[in-house]
Amino acid sequence: MFQIPNPFCQCPICEEARVKRGRYERLGPSLYIEDIQMLIDTPEDIGVACDRQGISEIKYLSISHKDPDHTRGMRIVEPLGYDCIADKGSPIQFIALPEVADDINAWNGDGLKYYENVLHCISIHKTDHIKIGDIEIHLVNNKTHRGNMTFYVISDKCRKAVYACCDVKPFLHNELYYDADVLIVGLVSDDGILKGGKRLEEAPFRDDMFTIEEIMELKRKYRIKRIIVTHIDEYWGKSYADYLKIEKNLDNISFAYDGMEIIL
Ligand SMILES: [Zn+2]
Ligand SMILES: [Zn+2]
Repeated sequence: MFQIPNPFCQCPICEEARVKRGRYERLGPSLYIEDIQMLIDTPEDIGVACDRQGISEIKYLSISHKDPDHTRGMRIVEPLGYDCIADKGSPIQFIALPEVADDINAWNGDGLKYYENVLHCISIHKTDHIKIGDIEIHLVNNKTHRGNMTFYVISDKCRKAVYACCDVKPFLHNELYYDADVLIVGLVSDDGILKGGKRLEEAPFRDDMFTIEEIMELKRKYRIKRIIVTHIDEYWGKSYADYLKIEKNLDNISFAYDGMEIIL
């Protein structure tokens, strides 16, 4: 939600990131599926993230839910699909749950409608399932008191990944999550101590986050081989080196960093 370094913060984590850069910096949460050139989510710095990772082609785009930390980089569709000199669009496929597409329009001044109908740089496909080549994606609505949130179950014949990056708790049951090779999941507390020594259990958002014990329980219940924690925030007060230490003592749970490659 907040980048590291946060430009307005002089805490040790942000100061360290200013010196070391690389894995010590964090941009917004997103996932790129290389096999099918599909991007999931557009935080405001997504253009910088794509450039850093050498991602030069996006054929499919999806956005998981309406919140600003996942949508405010949606202008990426302009350089992708709109030639402003010729005033001509070459639409890329935009895939989302119908209710999520409606939420995104409602929160962004009908932004998706503008891109589809005026600039013609996206073509909206409202669905809960797509198949592209050998890759199948189920879009599952983890609908809670916070609203609509898409979890992605991405599979081919022999591998399965679940991407559940935000608004994860409560985690609604779905048979599709069983036996995943990896669950990439947001908002999991590490040691319960936040930036400045504040305790997570006293924070207003404590009930929105999983503890490590709860995530281990999900791992057991769904027989998931590996967990990767993402959507790691500046106010959690940890650096890349801290997470390396924490994950050493965990059973197949690791913490994401910008540019992390996951090969299944
Ligand atoms: Zn800071
Ligand atoms: Zn988020």
